[in-house]
Amino acid sequence: MVNPLTLTAKEIAQQVSSGSLSALDVVELYLDRIRRLNPKINAFITVAEEQARRAAEEVDKAVKKGFRGRLLGVPIAVKDVISTKGIETTCASKILRGYVPPYDATVVKRLKAEGAIVIGKTNMDEFAMGSSTELSAYGPTRNPWSLDRVTGGSSGGSGAATSARMAPTSLGSDTGGSVRCPASFCGIVGLKPTYGVVSRYGLISYACSLEQIGPMTVDVEDCALLMEVISGRDGFDSTLIDYEFRWSYEGVKGLRIAVPKEFFSEGTDERVLESVWRVIKLLESNGAVYEEVSLPLSRYALAAYYIIAMSEASSNLARYDGIRYGMPYDPSLPWHEAFSKVRGEGFGLEVKRRIILGTFALSAGYYGRYYLKALKLRAMIRDQVLSLLKRFDVIATPTTPFPPFKLGEKIEDPLSLYMADIDTVVANLAGVPAISIPAGLVDGLPVGAQFMANYCREDVLLTVAKCVQDETHFDKLVPGVAKA
Ligand code: GLN
Repeated sequence: MVNPLTLTAKEIAQQVSSGSLSALDVVELYLDRIRRLNPKINAFITVAEEQARRAAEEVDKAVKKGFRGRLLGVPIAVKDVISTKGIETTCASKILRGYVPPYDATVVKRLKAEGAIVIGKTNMDEFAMGSSTELSAYGPTRNPWSLDRVTGGSSGGSGAATSARMAPTSLGSDTGGSVRCPASFCGIVGLKPTYGVVSRYGLISYACSLEQIGPMTVDVEDCALLMEVISGRDGFDSTLIDYEFRWSYEGVKGLRIAVPKEFFSEGTDERVLESVWRVIKLLESNGAVYEEVSLPLSRYALAAYYIIAMSEASSNLARYDGIRYGMPYDPSLPWHEAFSKVRGEGFGLEVKRRIILGTFALSAGYYGRYYLKALKLRAMIRDQVLSLLKRFDVIATPTTPFPPFKLGEKIEDPLSLYMADIDTVVANLAGVPAISIPAGLVDGLPVGAQFMANYCREDVLLTVAKCVQDETHFDKLVPGVAKA
């Protein structure tokens, strides 16, 4: 009998390929888990029960005819910001309720071509704006490790679904930390790829110059497998660079780790710091070397990030006017009233706040003072990161400055919620890849260690992750609720 608590995507694909498991068996297994666990956790906005069954039957038929794929029969939970043909895609917003995309995002298409099955669409902060998955029009997702805590965000549904083994793997999107933060809070692996290596076609835009789709998995090799499948050229996304993901594990001997002191300062919970240091020391005992360094401009990263992200959001979200996209407008009203009504009723408070602030930062007279200045800082921060990465293979930091907090604890105070991203936004500003891996438990709650590497060096990040996984077996950590 298969055990979903230990089953990896790779093993599922092997078993379906050899015929010892059918794709339909696998899908039923996970649908059953979703039925039992999702009411407690609220990781899914839509469970694609019928579509998943049908897709599994197709896969089984194709296997009989000799079809083989790298993700045969593997259920994937897809963040609800990624377009899925025939499956409602809401971005956790009221404004997109009922929207069924007529096409698949490139990443989804690629996964399906390898035999993977979309099992459902996961909860998130509305339009990916948030760090706790509390800002969803469909209610918050609860952390499987402690149901009164947040999952992190904005890909909290994907984090929780994977951590509770409601799906062996999932996809998130990461504009400023949205893959890594929930990976950290839920005790799994989350990778934000280099900007321009994974197609954004079909990803509903929040801040295009910062975001990438990334894998969220329990197991490091599964993360590599998903990366292999979703990355690479696509005629529908002109920002893509030539890239071929390759990775083979050869250990961390000689790996040079930079430890920037700004990320290990007082603002960060001591227990988080201890956990990250344990990971660094463990790498050292496996042959890596580390050095404490400084990344002084990182103190401006959060401010620059939020100005850029909100500015881009204010422009990207203009399309939800009830005419092109969004809830239908009332044709009996003058157009500007109809337009305001749709946006006023359809968007949540945080989304509105960001559209207003972003519009302000871009407006004549303030553009130079805010947006342009943020862009200049972004360039300087990137240069500083790259110059460190000339001397080092990776930069190690905590993923978040604190462990998962209580639901509602920070909701009234947007600035304290934004602080959750203080360690993650640097990688998005610089465009470099970054991974979060489990660094242990603090009072029974997962915390993550983050590593950044140079452009297109996802392989180095996976090597670090694999070494830590082999030593700590973080892939065997399962939250209590998922064992029931
Ligand atoms: N928490 C950050 C924000 O709200 C990052 C979100 C994301 O990566 N999508 O902008």
